Amino acid sequence: MSSATSTVDTWELARLGHERHGEAPLAAFSRLLEGLPVQATQVVGWSLLGETDSLGQRFITLRAQASISLECQRCLEAFELALQVESRLQLVETEAEIDTEEMDEDDPDAPDQVVGSQFFDVLALVEDELILALPYVPKHEVCPSLPKELSASEGSDPGRPSPFAVLAELKKD
Ligand SMILES: [Zn+2]
Repeated sequence: MSSATSTVDTWELARLGHERHGEAPLAAFSRLLEGLPVQATQVVGWSLLGETDSLGQRFITLRAQASISLECQRCLEAFELALQVESRLQLVETEAEIDTEEMDEDDPDAPDQVVGSQFFDVLALVEDELILALPYVPKHEVCPSLPKELSASEGSDPGRPSPFAVLAELKKD
């Protein structure tokens, strides 16, 4: 059983290389849902894997999935976006450690860091990662009911549908 407040001992998780799983109702993520349409009853699933590498550096890898109702900014219809996030974070002991490490920008591949805790709030991290993964301008890949004149004028849109998808749309009529 998992509860709405899920805390994990990240140090123990990393030391033992364990993985934890949990679920939480989407409705619990109020920061994520701010400004979004009313959501269907959904569950957000997550897993957190701990790891210690050969140098003794400790990491956690968070994975989470959620299905979010968004309003398409092109056709203004609601659609469901399946969000999947995966983030590997290096555990550090204090906020101060993060600050000094970030001065070193020589290594762009350096993992993001997070302060570990015996009572690490997994859901806060899940929520942060889902917020980061939300599209800034949510749109269907191909709007199901877009008027023809609008699709024709979108030639320069880098996210435009493939010619095959457009053909498929035309054939539906
Ligand atoms: Zn649309």
